[in-house]
Amino acid sequence: MFLDLLNNLAVTSAFLFIAGKVFQNRPLMGNTSIYIKMIVGLGGGVLGTLLMLNAIHPNDTVIVDLRHLAMVLAAVFGGPIGSIIASIVIGTMRVALYGVNTASIVAGSVTIVIGIVLGALSIIKVKRIIYQYVALNLISVLAFSVTIYYLLKDPDLTHMILMFFVPFAIIGNLFTYILAESIQSANKNHRSIKYYKLLAENSSDLISTHDLDGRFKYVSPSSSIILGYKPEELIGKNPYDFYHTEDLLRISESHNTVVDTDQGFVVEYRFKRKDGSYVWLETTSKKLTGLGLVSDELMCSSRDVDIRKQLESDLIEKNDRLKRLSNLDGLTEIFNRRYFDAQLEEEWKKAIQKGQPLSLIMFDIDYFKLYNDTYGHQQGDECIKAIANVGNKVLNKPNDMIARYGGEEFVVILPGTCEKGALKVAEAIRKSVQVLAIPHVNSKVKPTVTVSVGVATVEPTREMNHLQLIVDTDDALYQAKNSGRNTVRFYEETEQVRSLVK
Ligand code: GH3
Ligand code: MG
Ligand code: MG
Repeated sequence: MFLDLLNNLAVTSAFLFIAGKVFQNRPLMGNTSIYIKMIVGLGGGVLGTLLMLNAIHPNDTVIVDLRHLAMVLAAVFGGPIGSIIASIVIGTMRVALYGVNTASIVAGSVTIVIGIVLGALSIIKVKRIIYQYVALNLISVLAFSVTIYYLLKDPDLTHMILMFFVPFAIIGNLFTYILAESIQSANKNHRSIKYYKLLAENSSDLISTHDLDGRFKYVSPSSSIILGYKPEELIGKNPYDFYHTEDLLRISESHNTVVDTDQGFVVEYRFKRKDGSYVWLETTSKKLTGLGLVSDELMCSSRDVDIRKQLESDLIEKNDRLKRLSNLDGLTEIFNRRYFDAQLEEEWKKAIQKGQPLSLIMFDIDYFKLYNDTYGHQQGDECIKAIANVGNKVLNKPNDMIARYGGEEFVVILPGTCEKGALKVAEAIRKSVQVLAIPHVNSKVKPTVTVSVGVATVEPTREMNHLQLIVDTDDALYQAKNSGRNTVRFYEETEQVRSLVK
């Protein structure tokens, strides 16, 4: 008897297992198509028939079968359509298998009627699915019991049958519920895994997981496009072997933060592609906890930001160029007045900090108005360029700088240079211009272009103002002009630089 029961449960298990596989990728609960409901109904019919064929024989007089379990399953999973189809199949098979007689026809018809009732009741929404199983089971057990009684008209025999039928039906019902639900939940998990895998595999970003040391565990197929490596070529590899050495510090900081905390981290770095070139990636990493694995993992989503990086560096370069250009004088291509003003302030501060002297040279082309009048403005421009060039060449310390102060006047900053050194540079400038020997027939000094040079040196203190140094240098230049031009003059009262009130 128990073997018979076990047999029924085994048949049901096998059937549910196969059904689970068939519907693995199609959830049966919720809105399913009529086509699916019909298949469920037919399946229920086949299972019911098998259960009928595996009728249980508790003793010589009693035979019970658990066909109604199949009808309950058909109603739960196939709704009214499934339930009715299953009951028609089972009812028909009842007559077909046991011959056309009153008992068969009544039993077959009752099966169909119960199927219709179960189908109708299956529409009612329940909070938990177990209630539906139990309710439908109880109704079918009741209906079959009444039928048995009606067919046998023998209360004693009916009682004996029910003594076996009712507990078997309850056991079978709970068994099918547990099994069907666990298969359903396994299928649901399977679909979720498939769904998320599909998301990862179709993402244009590179999705990867890593053990806590960083080794690749999973790599999405977009690695072929982004890195040139197929996923299987990276799995098990240490990504540190692919990083650009300049980015290692940044990456290990990100790695440590992600491993030690629950915070996500975004880092930009270069990864060596299979063809040897580097691609800029922007990776968001986060620790995955609660995976039920031996240890946690890291999840990374990496995006190719090569184009953005290229644009960024182009922009930086353009900005630099623009900045450089805005600091240069258009004609002579040496620094302009604006840059000189900023630079003098800067060097002034440095000189105060270091306690060093700071020298300034101003030089101006002699009788340049006459030069323009003689040779034309165009030629005048060329002359200014040549003088700027010569002045620039004379300077040899890296922090020395020359700028066009305006018109045909130039200024030189000599940081850390004392009076003696500054006078040397000034004289070198004057001489170099003279050596250049640009003809200037109408000059009242010489028949060539000459410059007059003013020099001032100061050891700046916080009480002084850098503008005074300019005034003093200009004064020295004025003295050079007054002393016959083509000469160098040092500002005699430099030591007494007065502080200007701003
Ligand atoms: P001094 O010896 O006293 O310096 O006499 P100068 O004629 O050189 O001085 P002044 O200030 O009288 O004249 C300077 C001239 O420089 C006037 C102006 O036309 C000319 N100049 C200023 N900037 C430019 C320029 O960019 N190109 C040309 N070609 N001439 C310029
Ligand atoms: Mg001049
Ligand atoms: Mg001038």
